[in-house]
Amino acid sequence: MTSGVYFIQISDYTETKKINDASLTLLKEIESENKIKFEKELPIKVHFGEKGNTTFIKPENYVSIINYLKTKTNPFYCETNVLYKGERTFSKTHMKIAKEHGFTQLPIIIADGDHGENYEEIKINKKHFKECKIGKIIANSKQLIVIAHFKGHMLAGFGGAIKQLGMGCASRGGKLAMHAQSKPILNPLSCKKCNTCVQHCPTNACIISTIPHIDYSKCIGCATCIAVCPHDAIKINWASTTPKSFNEKLAEYALGATTNKDGTRKKIIFINFVFNITKNCDCHGHPDKIVAKDIGILASNDPVALDKACIDLIRKNEDKKIFGGDNQLTYGEKIGLGTTNYNLIKLT
Ligand code: SF4
Ligand code: SF4
Repeated sequence: MTSGVYFIQISDYTETKKINDASLTLLKEIESENKIKFEKELPIKVHFGEKGNTTFIKPENYVSIINYLKTKTNPFYCETNVLYKGERTFSKTHMKIAKEHGFTQLPIIIADGDHGENYEEIKINKKHFKECKIGKIIANSKQLIVIAHFKGHMLAGFGGAIKQLGMGCASRGGKLAMHAQSKPILNPLSCKKCNTCVQHCPTNACIISTIPHIDYSKCIGCATCIAVCPHDAIKINWASTTPKSFNEKLAEYALGATTNKDGTRKKIIFINFVFNITKNCDCHGHPDKIVAKDIGILASNDPVALDKACIDLIRKNEDKKIFGGDNQLTYGEKIGLGTTNYNLIKLT
């Protein structure tokens, strides 16, 4: 099996008009190749960039896509809240950052709710996960546009379409399951017995007694308590994560995000912006160093082929060893997420 990856080369991120024109050309190419008829509502999965980050892809680069989709459907920006404590932990501050970063063209929906409570369990039956906790709005949509910034990532090696799907579409509990042991740790010495976790825990697993603890026989690993505890007494258990297993889990969650509840696959247009190629991801709340030359925009209906084409182009220009993490591609291929065999089709 071979997948088509469309590519328009642009070697300068400041060429906003060229980038807009190219984005739209690529979107239309995939739309027509796959004979996509847009449904009434269409989530556009983006990343708003953490507060202080300056290298995320700004929406002014794909306003052309937004305006085009507005003539065909009702598009909206879609994101999930993050696991760590920051501006994007809760919907209110997350949406505030989004607007400050220029995402004002469309309504914004946080797909998994304020505490990660809105998710669907999507069955995949793979090595790490039998089910994936996917943000409800995304899980219930049969179509998606996934816009990703292709760059490095501390744990995954690189982050593109697979990362945007796997981590970006997972609910808070899904993110916890990929990053760590799926159940958090409550430190009784830091606990102030305020009962906030008790009020939010969906399974009554937070036990605030003489020695506060989590009842693991009830805990479903939703990660709500980590977010809501005002005293940081509940932490992620990072013990079990290695880059290899993290990438396998990421690919499995990406498969979950592309799968409908009835087991069929969603119609998805993936667009990777390969500019501002930093060592770390856009969740870092500070300006990051650019480590590779701008490449342009690539699009496909196959996230594995797309990310493979992006990393190959970067490695052609730079050190061949730049960014590890290729097992998200090979494992993604093994579980049926896509193929690493691609045909690069250059457009102008
Ligand atoms: S929210 Fe935190 S501080 Fe409050 S009772 Fe729960 S663990 Fe303790
Ligand atoms: S104790 Fe478990 S089920 Fe309860 S909020 Fe925390 S992670 Fe969710």
